Amino acid sequence: MTAVLVINSGSSSFKYQLIEMDAETTLARGLVERIGADESHVTHEVVSQNGSEEYEQARSIRNHTEGFAVMLDAFREHGPSLDEHAPVAVGHRVVHGGKRFFEPTIITDLVRINIEDLAEIAPLHNPANVQGIEAAQKSFPDIPHVAVFDTAFHQTLPPAAYTYAIDKDVAEKHRIRKYGFHGTSHKFVSEEAARFLERDIADLNQIVLHLGNGASMTAVRGGESVETSMGFTPLEGLVMGTRSGDIDPAVLVHLHHKANLSVDELDDLLNRQSGIYGLSGLKDMRDLTDEANEGNDTARAALDVYVHRLKQYLGGYFFQLGRVDVIAFTAGIGENSAQVRAEALAGLENFGVKVDAARNEQRSHDTRVISADDSDVTVLVVPTNEELEIARQTLSVV
Ligand code: AMP
Repeated sequence: MTAVLVINSGSSSFKYQLIEMDAETTLARGLVERIGADESHVTHEVVSQNGSEEYEQARSIRNHTEGFAVMLDAFREHGPSLDEHAPVAVGHRVVHGGKRFFEPTIITDLVRINIEDLAEIAPLHNPANVQGIEAAQKSFPDIPHVAVFDTAFHQTLPPAAYTYAIDKDVAEKHRIRKYGFHGTSHKFVSEEAARFLERDIADLNQIVLHLGNGASMTAVRGGESVETSMGFTPLEGLVMGTRSGDIDPAVLVHLHHKANLSVDELDDLLNRQSGIYGLSGLKDMRDLTDEANEGNDTARAALDVYVHRLKQYLGGYFFQLGRVDVIAFTAGIGENSAQVRAEALAGLENFGVKVDAARNEQRSHDTRVISADDSDVTVLVVPTNEELEIARQTLSVV
Protein backbone atom coordinates (compact mmCIF):
# COMPACT_ATOMS: atom_id res chain seq x y z
CA MET A 1 0.00 0.00 0.00
CA THR A 2 1.19 3.50 -0.86
CA ALA A 3 0.10 6.41 1.30
CA VAL A 4 0.60 10.15 0.81
CA LEU A 5 0.16 12.80 3.51
CA VAL A 6 -1.34 16.05 2.21
CA ILE A 7 -0.81 19.33 4.09
CA ASN A 8 -2.68 22.59 3.55
CA SER A 9 -1.14 25.17 5.81
CA GLY A 10 -2.43 28.61 6.78
CA SER A 11 -0.85 31.19 9.06
CA SER A 12 -2.53 29.91 12.24
CA SER A 13 -3.80 26.50 11.17
CA PHE A 14 -3.15 23.49 8.99
CA LYS A 15 -5.29 20.74 7.54
CA TYR A 16 -3.94 17.26 6.89
CA GLN A 17 -5.15 14.18 5.12
CA LEU A 18 -3.59 10.72 4.83
CA ILE A 19 -4.61 9.12 1.54
CA GLU A 20 -4.07 5.52 0.47
CA MET A 21 -3.25 5.84 -3.21
CA ASP A 22 -4.00 2.37 -4.59
CA ALA A 23 -7.73 2.76 -3.97
CA GLU A 24 -7.47 6.56 -3.56
CA THR A 25 -9.24 6.45 -0.21
CA THR A 26 -8.81 8.76 2.76
CA LEU A 27 -7.54 7.00 5.90
CA ALA A 28 -7.56 10.03 8.20
CA ARG A 29 -7.98 13.76 8.08
CA GLY A 30 -7.64 16.53 10.59
CA LEU A 31 -7.35 20.18 11.41
CA VAL A 32 -5.04 21.96 13.82
CA GLU A 33 -6.31 25.50 14.31
CA ARG A 34 -5.72 28.64 16.35
CA ILE A 35 -2.01 27.91 16.53
CA GLY A 36 -0.39 30.56 18.74
CA ALA A 37 -3.63 31.41 20.59
CA ASP A 38 -4.12 30.57 24.29
CA GLU A 39 -6.15 27.54 23.40
CA SER A 40 -5.58 25.75 20.11
CA HIS A 41 -8.00 23.23 18.75
CA VAL A 42 -7.28 19.85 17.15
CA THR A 43 -9.68 17.61 15.26
CA HIS A 44 -8.55 14.16 14.11
CA GLU A 45 -10.90 11.96 12.11
CA VAL A 46 -10.19 8.30 11.45
CA VAL A 47 -12.00 7.14 8.33
CA SER A 48 -12.93 3.52 7.78
CA GLN A 49 -15.38 1.48 5.73
CA ASN A 50 -17.71 1.32 8.73
CA GLY A 51 -17.89 5.08 9.04
CA SER A 52 -15.58 7.54 10.71
CA GLU A 53 -14.70 8.53 14.23
CA GLU A 54 -13.75 12.03 15.25
CA TYR A 55 -11.53 13.01 18.17
CA GLU A 56 -11.20 16.56 19.42
CA GLN A 57 -8.92 18.23 21.90
CA ALA A 58 -8.14 21.74 23.07
CA ARG A 59 -4.62 22.55 24.21
CA SER A 60 -1.89 25.12 23.77
CA ILE A 61 0.10 24.84 20.52
CA ARG A 62 2.70 27.56 20.10
CA ASN A 63 3.74 27.02 16.51
CA HIS A 64 3.40 24.75 13.47
CA THR A 65 6.23 22.47 14.64
CA GLU A 66 4.33 21.75 17.86
CA GLY A 67 1.21 21.31 15.77
CA PHE A 68 2.84 18.51 13.78
CA ALA A 69 3.98 16.82 16.98
CA VAL A 70 0.37 16.90 18.20
CA MET A 71 -0.80 15.49 14.86
CA LEU A 72 1.67 12.59 15.20
CA ASP A 73 0.39 11.96 18.74
CA ALA A 74 -3.17 11.81 17.38
CA PHE A 75 -2.11 9.20 14.81
CA ARG A 76 -0.35 7.19 17.56
CA GLU A 77 -3.29 7.39 19.94
CA HIS A 78 -6.27 6.99 17.60
CA GLY A 79 -4.74 5.51 14.44
CA PRO A 80 -4.30 4.68 11.70
CA SER A 81 -0.77 3.54 12.46
CA LEU A 82 1.82 5.54 10.53
CA ASP A 83 4.11 2.50 10.71
CA GLU A 84 1.56 0.43 8.85
CA HIS A 85 0.54 3.25 6.50
CA ALA A 86 3.84 5.07 6.29
CA PRO A 87 3.52 7.94 3.83
CA VAL A 88 5.96 7.76 0.90
CA ALA A 89 5.79 11.54 0.50
CA VAL A 90 4.20 14.70 1.86
CA GLY A 91 2.28 16.89 -0.60
CA HIS A 92 1.96 20.57 0.27
CA ARG A 93 -0.58 22.96 -1.13
CA VAL A 94 1.28 26.14 -2.04
CA VAL A 95 -0.85 29.06 -3.13
CA HIS A 96 1.52 31.01 -5.36
CA GLY A 97 4.00 29.51 -7.80
CA GLY A 98 4.53 32.76 -9.72
CA LYS A 99 5.90 32.29 -13.23
CA ARG A 100 8.55 29.85 -12.06
CA PHE A 101 6.57 26.85 -10.81
CA PHE A 102 4.02 25.18 -13.02
CA GLU A 103 4.58 21.53 -12.10
CA PRO A 104 4.50 19.67 -8.80
CA THR A 105 8.01 20.25 -7.48
CA ILE A 106 10.14 18.35 -4.97
CA ILE A 107 11.01 20.83 -2.23
CA THR A 108 14.76 21.43 -1.95
CA ASP A 109 16.29 24.29 0.04
CA LEU A 110 16.42 26.32 -3.17
CA VAL A 111 12.77 25.63 -4.00
CA ARG A 112 11.77 26.65 -0.48
CA ILE A 113 13.69 29.92 -0.81
CA ASN A 114 11.98 30.58 -4.13
CA ILE A 115 8.54 29.95 -2.60
CA GLU A 116 9.46 32.35 0.21
CA ASP A 117 10.60 34.90 -2.34
CA LEU A 118 7.12 34.82 -3.90
CA ALA A 119 5.77 36.17 -0.60
CA GLU A 120 6.36 39.56 -2.17
CA ILE A 121 3.36 38.93 -4.45
CA ALA A 122 1.47 36.55 -2.09
CA PRO A 123 2.05 37.99 1.39
CA LEU A 124 -1.06 36.39 2.88
CA HIS A 125 -0.38 32.86 1.73
CA ASN A 126 3.16 31.84 0.83
CA PRO A 127 4.80 32.62 4.21
CA ALA A 128 2.14 30.44 5.89
CA ASN A 129 2.76 27.65 3.37
CA VAL A 130 6.50 27.82 4.06
CA GLN A 131 5.89 27.61 7.82
CA GLY A 132 3.95 24.41 7.22
CA ILE A 133 6.65 22.99 4.94
CA GLU A 134 9.45 23.65 7.43
CA ALA A 135 7.50 22.13 10.32
CA ALA A 136 6.46 19.08 8.29
CA GLN A 137 10.05 18.52 7.14
CA LYS A 138 11.09 18.29 10.80
CA SER A 139 8.39 15.69 11.49
CA PHE A 140 9.05 13.72 8.28
CA PRO A 141 12.76 14.26 7.52
CA ASP A 142 13.31 11.08 5.50
CA ILE A 143 10.67 11.31 2.78
CA PRO A 144 10.29 13.75 -0.11
CA HIS A 145 8.12 16.83 0.32
CA VAL A 146 6.40 18.11 -2.81
CA ALA A 147 4.87 21.52 -3.51
CA VAL A 148 1.68 21.59 -5.57
CA PHE A 149 0.81 25.12 -6.67
CA ASP A 150 -2.67 26.67 -6.88
CA THR A 151 -1.51 28.80 -9.79
CA ALA A 152 0.04 25.94 -11.80
CA PHE A 153 -3.01 24.91 -13.83
CA HIS A 154 -3.30 28.47 -15.15
CA GLN A 155 0.20 28.54 -16.65
CA THR A 156 -1.46 27.84 -20.01
CA LEU A 157 -3.29 31.20 -20.02
CA PRO A 158 -2.40 33.03 -23.22
CA PRO A 159 -0.72 36.46 -22.86
CA ALA A 160 -3.90 38.18 -24.05
CA ALA A 161 -5.71 36.70 -21.05
CA TYR A 162 -3.06 37.24 -18.37
CA THR A 163 -1.88 40.73 -19.34
CA TYR A 164 -3.32 43.77 -17.58
CA ALA A 165 -3.47 46.88 -19.76
CA ILE A 166 -1.08 48.97 -17.67
CA ASP A 167 2.41 50.34 -18.37
CA LYS A 168 4.26 47.20 -19.37
CA ASP A 169 7.54 48.18 -17.71
CA VAL A 170 5.78 48.72 -14.39
CA ALA A 171 3.99 45.38 -14.81
CA GLU A 172 7.21 43.53 -15.61
CA LYS A 173 9.21 45.11 -12.81
CA HIS A 174 6.62 44.18 -10.19
CA ARG A 175 5.53 40.85 -11.73
CA ILE A 176 1.99 42.19 -12.22
CA ARG A 177 -0.15 39.84 -14.31
CA LYS A 178 -3.08 37.52 -13.90
CA TYR A 179 -1.92 34.28 -12.25
CA GLY A 180 -5.25 32.63 -11.38
CA PHE A 181 -5.93 30.43 -8.34
CA HIS A 182 -7.96 27.35 -7.29
CA GLY A 183 -6.02 25.62 -10.09
CA THR A 184 -5.85 22.26 -8.32
CA SER A 185 -9.64 22.22 -8.07
CA HIS A 186 -10.27 23.41 -11.64
CA LYS A 187 -7.89 20.73 -12.95
CA PHE A 188 -9.45 17.97 -10.84
CA VAL A 189 -13.02 18.94 -11.76
CA SER A 190 -12.41 19.32 -15.50
CA GLU A 191 -10.67 15.92 -15.61
CA GLU A 192 -13.40 14.30 -13.52
CA ALA A 193 -16.05 15.76 -15.86
CA ALA A 194 -14.34 14.19 -18.89
CA ARG A 195 -13.91 10.87 -17.10
CA PHE A 196 -17.56 10.88 -15.99
CA LEU A 197 -18.81 11.63 -19.51
CA GLU A 198 -16.40 9.07 -21.00
CA ARG A 199 -15.06 11.75 -23.32
CA ASP A 200 -11.52 12.65 -24.27
CA ILE A 201 -10.74 15.85 -22.37
CA ALA A 202 -8.88 17.11 -25.47
CA ASP A 203 -12.25 17.38 -27.26
CA LEU A 204 -14.10 19.29 -24.55
CA ASN A 205 -14.65 22.98 -23.94
CA GLN A 206 -15.64 23.47 -20.32
CA ILE A 207 -16.56 26.23 -17.91
CA VAL A 208 -15.80 25.29 -14.30
CA LEU A 209 -17.43 27.28 -11.50
CA HIS A 210 -15.64 26.80 -8.16
CA LEU A 211 -18.11 28.50 -5.80
CA GLY A 212 -17.01 28.24 -2.19
CA ASN A 213 -16.12 30.85 0.35
CA GLY A 214 -13.60 31.94 -2.26
CA ALA A 215 -15.00 31.70 -5.78
CA SER A 216 -13.55 31.53 -9.28
CA MET A 217 -14.53 30.51 -12.77
CA THR A 218 -12.25 28.99 -15.40
CA ALA A 219 -12.64 28.42 -19.14
CA VAL A 220 -10.94 25.11 -19.97
CA ARG A 221 -10.22 24.22 -23.60
CA GLY A 222 -8.98 20.70 -24.23
CA GLY A 223 -7.93 20.32 -20.60
CA GLU A 224 -6.03 23.63 -20.49
CA SER A 225 -6.99 26.78 -18.60
CA VAL A 226 -7.44 29.58 -21.16
CA GLU A 227 -9.17 32.20 -18.98
CA THR A 228 -9.88 32.47 -15.27
CA SER A 229 -11.54 35.00 -13.03
CA MET A 230 -9.02 35.39 -10.20
CA GLY A 231 -6.07 37.56 -11.06
CA PHE A 232 -2.84 38.86 -9.57
CA THR A 233 -4.38 37.81 -6.24
CA PRO A 234 -7.47 35.76 -5.32
CA LEU A 235 -9.43 39.02 -4.99
CA GLU A 236 -10.41 39.59 -8.62
CA GLY A 237 -13.50 38.26 -10.34
CA LEU A 238 -16.63 36.83 -8.79
CA VAL A 239 -18.42 38.05 -5.66
CA MET A 240 -17.22 35.90 -2.73
CA GLY A 241 -18.00 35.33 0.95
CA THR A 242 -16.13 38.41 2.17
CA ARG A 243 -14.21 39.49 -0.97
CA SER A 244 -15.52 42.05 -3.43
CA GLY A 245 -14.30 40.50 -6.67
CA ASP A 246 -14.19 43.02 -9.54
CA ILE A 247 -14.37 46.69 -8.70
CA ASP A 248 -13.31 49.86 -10.49
CA PRO A 249 -9.75 50.44 -9.15
CA ALA A 250 -10.47 54.18 -9.06
CA VAL A 251 -12.78 53.50 -6.10
CA LEU A 252 -9.66 52.80 -4.01
CA VAL A 253 -8.07 56.10 -5.02
CA HIS A 254 -11.33 57.86 -4.23
CA LEU A 255 -11.73 56.25 -0.80
CA HIS A 256 -8.12 57.01 0.01
CA HIS A 257 -8.50 60.69 -0.83
CA LYS A 258 -12.07 61.32 0.33
CA ALA A 259 -12.55 58.92 3.25
CA ASN A 260 -8.94 58.87 4.42
CA LEU A 261 -8.79 55.08 4.29
CA SER A 262 -5.23 53.78 4.54
CA VAL A 263 -3.82 51.06 2.29
CA ASP A 264 -4.32 48.49 5.05
CA GLU A 265 -7.90 49.62 5.62
CA LEU A 266 -8.64 49.33 1.91
CA ASP A 267 -7.12 45.85 1.87
CA ASP A 268 -9.29 44.87 4.83
CA LEU A 269 -12.39 46.42 3.22
CA LEU A 270 -12.00 44.51 -0.04
CA ASN A 271 -10.81 41.16 1.36
CA ARG A 272 -12.75 40.86 4.62
CA GLN A 273 -15.65 43.35 4.74
CA SER A 274 -17.05 42.96 1.23
CA GLY A 275 -18.71 40.31 -0.93
CA ILE A 276 -21.91 38.70 0.35
CA TYR A 277 -20.96 39.73 3.89
CA GLY A 278 -20.45 43.38 3.00
CA LEU A 279 -23.74 43.50 1.13
CA SER A 280 -25.91 41.62 3.62
CA GLY A 281 -24.10 41.06 6.92
CA LEU A 282 -24.34 37.31 6.21
CA LYS A 283 -21.33 35.19 5.28
CA ASP A 284 -22.90 31.84 4.60
CA MET A 285 -24.77 31.19 1.34
CA ARG A 286 -27.29 28.99 3.19
CA ASP A 287 -28.27 31.94 5.40
CA LEU A 288 -28.35 34.30 2.43
CA THR A 289 -30.67 32.15 0.31
CA ASP A 290 -32.89 31.37 3.35
CA GLU A 291 -33.23 35.05 4.20
CA ALA A 292 -33.80 36.04 0.56
CA ASN A 293 -36.51 33.40 0.22
CA GLU A 294 -38.21 34.63 3.41
CA GLY A 295 -38.58 38.11 1.92
CA ASN A 296 -35.49 39.88 3.28
CA ASP A 297 -34.88 42.51 0.58
CA THR A 298 -31.26 43.16 1.56
CA ALA A 299 -30.43 39.47 1.27
CA ARG A 300 -32.28 39.23 -2.06
CA ALA A 301 -30.38 42.23 -3.42
CA ALA A 302 -27.04 40.67 -2.37
CA LEU A 303 -27.95 37.38 -4.03
CA ASP A 304 -28.89 39.31 -7.18
CA VAL A 305 -25.42 40.89 -7.29
CA TYR A 306 -23.83 37.46 -6.78
CA VAL A 307 -25.83 35.85 -9.59
CA HIS A 308 -25.48 38.83 -11.95
CA ARG A 309 -21.67 38.53 -11.73
CA LEU A 310 -21.84 34.80 -12.43
CA LYS A 311 -23.84 35.44 -15.60
CA GLN A 312 -21.47 38.19 -16.66
CA TYR A 313 -18.52 35.80 -16.53
CA LEU A 314 -20.43 32.86 -18.02
CA GLY A 315 -21.30 35.03 -21.02
CA GLY A 316 -17.72 36.17 -21.44
CA TYR A 317 -16.40 32.61 -21.29
CA PHE A 318 -18.97 31.39 -23.83
CA PHE A 319 -17.57 33.92 -26.28
CA GLN A 320 -13.93 33.19 -25.44
CA LEU A 321 -14.49 29.46 -25.98
CA GLY A 322 -16.79 29.80 -29.00
CA ARG A 323 -18.48 26.52 -28.12
CA VAL A 324 -19.24 25.12 -24.67
CA ASP A 325 -19.74 21.39 -24.05
CA VAL A 326 -19.75 21.30 -20.25
CA ILE A 327 -20.57 23.65 -17.40
CA ALA A 328 -19.39 22.13 -14.09
CA PHE A 329 -20.29 23.41 -10.62
CA THR A 330 -18.10 22.61 -7.63
CA ALA A 331 -17.16 23.57 -4.01
CA GLY A 332 -19.45 24.36 -1.06
CA ILE A 333 -21.98 26.51 -2.90
CA GLY A 334 -21.58 24.95 -6.35
CA GLU A 335 -22.08 21.43 -4.99
CA ASN A 336 -24.88 22.23 -2.55
CA SER A 337 -26.96 25.20 -3.63
CA ALA A 338 -29.52 24.15 -6.22
CA GLN A 339 -30.91 27.67 -6.02
CA VAL A 340 -27.65 29.39 -7.00
CA ARG A 341 -27.13 26.90 -9.87
CA ALA A 342 -30.69 27.44 -11.10
CA GLU A 343 -30.50 31.22 -10.90
CA ALA A 344 -27.08 31.37 -12.57
CA LEU A 345 -28.31 29.37 -15.58
CA ALA A 346 -31.87 30.71 -15.78
CA GLY A 347 -32.89 32.07 -19.18
CA LEU A 348 -29.94 30.61 -21.11
CA GLU A 349 -32.02 28.20 -23.22
CA ASN A 350 -31.15 30.19 -26.36
CA PHE A 351 -27.49 29.39 -25.66
CA GLY A 352 -28.22 25.67 -25.41
CA VAL A 353 -28.28 25.52 -21.60
CA LYS A 354 -31.33 23.80 -20.13
CA VAL A 355 -31.31 22.77 -16.47
CA ASP A 356 -33.61 19.92 -15.38
CA ALA A 357 -35.25 21.24 -12.21
CA ALA A 358 -35.75 17.82 -10.58
CA ARG A 359 -32.17 16.68 -11.31
CA ASN A 360 -30.85 19.98 -10.00
CA GLU A 361 -32.72 19.56 -6.71
CA GLN A 362 -31.44 16.04 -6.07
CA ARG A 363 -28.77 15.88 -3.36
CA SER A 364 -25.79 13.58 -3.73
CA HIS A 365 -22.07 13.37 -3.02
CA ASP A 366 -21.38 11.98 -6.49
CA THR A 367 -20.71 13.58 -9.83
CA ARG A 368 -24.03 14.03 -11.61
CA VAL A 369 -25.80 15.59 -14.59
CA ILE A 370 -28.33 18.33 -13.85
CA SER A 371 -29.11 19.43 -17.42
CA ALA A 372 -32.07 18.15 -19.44
CA ASP A 373 -31.50 15.41 -22.00
CA ASP A 374 -32.07 17.90 -24.84
CA SER A 375 -29.65 20.50 -23.46
CA ASP A 376 -26.75 21.15 -25.90
CA VAL A 377 -24.50 21.99 -22.97
CA THR A 378 -24.12 19.26 -20.34
CA VAL A 379 -24.35 20.79 -16.88
CA LEU A 380 -22.65 18.82 -14.12
CA VAL A 381 -22.17 18.97 -10.38
CA VAL A 382 -18.69 17.62 -9.62
CA PRO A 383 -17.57 17.36 -5.99
CA THR A 384 -14.03 18.70 -5.87
CA ASN A 385 -11.23 16.87 -4.07
CA GLU A 386 -8.19 19.11 -3.90
CA GLU A 387 -6.42 16.84 -1.40
CA LEU A 388 -6.64 13.84 -3.71
CA GLU A 389 -5.40 15.92 -6.65
CA ILE A 390 -2.44 17.13 -4.55
CA ALA A 391 -1.71 13.52 -3.53
CA ARG A 392 -1.87 12.33 -7.17
CA GLN A 393 0.47 15.08 -8.32
CA THR A 394 2.80 14.42 -5.39
CA LEU A 395 3.02 10.74 -6.26
CA SER A 396 3.66 11.58 -9.92
CA VAL A 397 7.04 13.13 -9.08
CA VAL A 398 8.42 10.89 -6.32
P1 AMP B 1 -16.09 25.94 0.68
O1 AMP B 1 -15.22 27.17 0.73
O2 AMP B 1 -15.97 25.19 -0.60
O3 AMP B 1 -15.98 25.10 1.90
O4 AMP B 1 -17.60 26.48 0.68
C1 AMP B 1 -18.13 27.17 1.77
C2 AMP B 1 -19.46 27.77 1.38
O5 AMP B 1 -20.35 26.73 0.95
C3 AMP B 1 -20.13 28.48 2.52
O6 AMP B 1 -20.23 29.84 2.22
C4 AMP B 1 -21.51 27.90 2.58
O7 AMP B 1 -22.41 28.95 2.51
C5 AMP B 1 -21.68 27.11 1.29
N1 AMP B 1 -22.55 25.96 1.49
C6 AMP B 1 -22.29 24.79 2.11
N2 AMP B 1 -23.40 24.01 2.12
C7 AMP B 1 -24.37 24.70 1.49
C8 AMP B 1 -25.75 24.45 1.17
N3 AMP B 1 -26.33 23.30 1.50
N4 AMP B 1 -26.41 25.40 0.50
C9 AMP B 1 -25.83 26.55 0.17
N5 AMP B 1 -24.55 26.85 0.43
C10 AMP B 1 -23.83 25.94 1.07
